[in-house]
Amino acid sequence: MNTWKDKALFTPGPLTTSRTVKQAMLCDLGSRDTEFIQMVREIRAQLIKLAMTSEDFYTSVLMQGSGTFGIESVISSAIPTNGKLLILVNGAYGERMTHMAKIHNIEMLVQACPENQTPDLRLLENTLIANPDISHVAVVHCETTTGIINPIGEIGRLVNTYKRVYIVDAMSSFGAYPIPVEDFKIDFLISSSNKCIEGVPGFSFIIARIEALKACKGNARTLAMDLFSQWEGLEKSGQFRFTPPVQVIRAFRQALVELEDEGGVYGRAERYRQNYVLTLLHLTKLGFIPYLPPENRGYTITSFRYPDYPKFNFEEFYQRLSNKGCVIYPGKLSHADCFRIGHIGRLDQSDVFLLISAIRETLSDMEITLEPQEEWVKTGVA
Ligand SMILES: *Cc1c(COP(=O)(O)O)cnc(C)c1O
Repeated sequence: MNTWKDKALFTPGPLTTSRTVKQAMLCDLGSRDTEFIQMVREIRAQLIKLAMTSEDFYTSVLMQGSGTFGIESVISSAIPTNGKLLILVNGAYGERMTHMAKIHNIEMLVQACPENQTPDLRLLENTLIANPDISHVAVVHCETTTGIINPIGEIGRLVNTYKRVYIVDAMSSFGAYPIPVEDFKIDFLISSSNKCIEGVPGFSFIIARIEALKACKGNARTLAMDLFSQWEGLEKSGQFRFTPPVQVIRAFRQALVELEDEGGVYGRAERYRQNYVLTLLHLTKLGFIPYLPPENRGYTITSFRYPDYPKFNFEEFYQRLSNKGCVIYPGKLSHADCFRIGHIGRLDQSDVFLLISAIRETLSDMEITLEPQEEWVKTGVA
């Protein structure tokens, strides 16, 4: 599938993309031209469909910059000066939202839990009851730090019961997990062009409940990332306020076509799940131990512990794999030494087999022998 012979990216993004997605960028395009305006309109409508809802209640906004810019746009635009944000944290991306709140002087409360656990829902409910001043709740769906999947539907129902506004960072899951925003009571969902939709990096997008978005008017703490004004511009003239990444947006339209061709979110989920299962089985057979318990793991990215072996050195391991054409990802955990393997992007089983052979050879080159792990023994697949 990786026809350009670039290295295969087993990372959480930017990812390996199809040749046709890359080719879609080979053009010049005016950002005020009708062709571009029409393209943006189509993309916005399609994002609403992907969120399994309708344009009657939801809208989408494209925001220049990487995923973090989209999240900061929501955090700095949605919470009014007298508001208070509760952030559920079990990894680096939840933590990053607390930094945003701090920078923008937003009152905040943090409910943190260990990185291998999902948030305690009873504690969340009690916190909402005890703190009527909490106006907004934010959580990360797939915490890419570990690959853990947080229960955004259950959290949404609680947040809705207590009538607070709900913000979900679905960066590394949207497009690969079905997320019915209306059912999950999500007011703002953020993702980006270069994760599970398999576009190239350059913008993020926000799927917002129209009523919640209207309430953002006048709240913005920045000019460029003002979510309400960005939406207003797109609605009124179909245009961006400031230069959009036109080629990236064109590539994204192609990526959406290819997502559809693959069978939509369910088809894509199936391929990613296969990549995940293959990776897990063979890496545990080779002796690696996944960081998360099975019930918390998602299929977009997996964290593995560094093997407890004197000759294992991550930098060397990484470089040798990279030399063989496979790029993996370092860990980001605060308490455990891990590396990560992404299962997303335009990769299929043949790429995963390439990675597994590369890891096997690398272990042998580094003279590392590990004991096959439980997981492999239990599930045993050839
Ligand atoms: C990738 C990612 C982001 C955004 O990161 P950028 O480097 O700004 O694209 C935010 N949250 C999660 C969970 C992510 O996986």
